[in-house]
Amino acid sequence: MVNIPKGTKDVLPSEVYLWHRLEETARKTAEQFAFQEIRTPVFEYTELFARGVGDTSDIVNKEMYTFLDKGGRSVTLRPEGTAGVARAFIGNGLAGGAMPFKAYYLISAFRYERPQAGRLREFHQFGAELYGASGAYADAEIISLADSFLKNLGLKEVKLQINSIGCKTCRKEYHKALKEFFAPHLNEMCEDCKSRFDKNPMRILDCKEEGCKKITANAPRILDYLCEDCRAHFGEVRGLLDAAHIAYEVNPSIVRGLDYYSRTVFEFVSAAAGAQGTVLGGGRYDGLLETMGEKAVPAVGFAAGMERLLMVMAAENAPVPQDKGVACYLAGLDGASRTQAFLLAAELRKEGISCEVDLMERSLKAQFKYADKIGARYVAVVGESELKDRAAEVKDMKNSASERVKFAELAAYLKEKEN
Ligand code: ATP
Ligand code: MG
Repeated sequence: MVNIPKGTKDVLPSEVYLWHRLEETARKTAEQFAFQEIRTPVFEYTELFARGVGDTSDIVNKEMYTFLDKGGRSVTLRPEGTAGVARAFIGNGLAGGAMPFKAYYLISAFRYERPQAGRLREFHQFGAELYGASGAYADAEIISLADSFLKNLGLKEVKLQINSIGCKTCRKEYHKALKEFFAPHLNEMCEDCKSRFDKNPMRILDCKEEGCKKITANAPRILDYLCEDCRAHFGEVRGLLDAAHIAYEVNPSIVRGLDYYSRTVFEFVSAAAGAQGTVLGGGRYDGLLETMGEKAVPAVGFAAGMERLLMVMAAENAPVPQDKGVACYLAGLDGASRTQAFLLAAELRKEGISCEVDLMERSLKAQFKYADKIGARYVAVVGESELKDRAAEVKDMKNSASERVKFAELAAYLKEKEN
């Protein structure tokens, strides 16, 4: 037997209702906020991520599934959704359309990471992007969408943390201060941080190595270096969240793993997700579209990790409705009645009723056992006398009551019962 690739997971029919709950809640919430779905390819030219995610990020440096296709082009399985959406926005000329542009996505993403709970090589994201609006309302709208999604899932213990990482102007001063602070500690830091020191010192704050974490604990804070405009913007975002009663905590150590962020960054964190506590992360990235050759278009968005959300839903015991089972199981006793049951099923399905018919040619007793197992709401039995009557014996599996129902009236009967 060939094994499943490391860091990937099957979703079995018995657990898929959990994914339906996630996906339906995501779609419903996004649509309440008037975001429309966008679908982009699973793979893109490698250059897109190198440019769009940034070549000092862990994703681009270590985690990408990159290969040459048969035409010798370097392609990469998408490690995240934002770069593809930005490419689609530019490539399809959507910048000329109505603004703001608001899109959401439900995708699988691929990163070559060390697999552990909440960290896979193929994982799934629900994300949203809002382009064209630079003001604090857009940041607040995106955070509010993320917050509503988590609340609609029934989660109560997920906490919002926000920060501002400023713009190019204020970050220049901040980078200087960071370098001054880190320089004397450089030889105690990990190899990655040594190269971050030159390329992007702020990324050191995101390092997960214990040794580096200890040093960064006392590092200068970006909030003390914000320029007047960035400070005002952050104040407005906070004011809107307060007004909307969205609770948050300012966490000055959030910098986010991707290079393209500016100003607002945020994470929703849950203790229930264990070491991988961040279930949803996002922020503003006003510089992204410009790096892809578009004129500057302000942008803000987020992405939520579905596998981590499932862990939190389980830990919080969030209620998840099971998928609706089969409405009616059609049992046949012999060849002729089995055929009749088969035809009845076709009639019922035309009327939009979900039903199942015996495909195993089992005894009536075994058919009832099976119907019970799959949670069929009704079982309609067809035998010799039923064939003669052109009626089925319909048993309510909840209370075992049974009734004779004309074949021609079966669909209407089941529909009536459903209401
Ligand atoms: P982390 O710091 O945990 O590595 P990240 O900063 O790399 O996260 P993002 O790129 O912001 O994560 O992705 C958004 C969300 O996607 C994360 O908050 C997380 O919930 C989820 N996620 C990221 N990488 C993985 C992975 N390898 N497996 C499962 N979920 C993931
Ligand atoms: Mg990561």
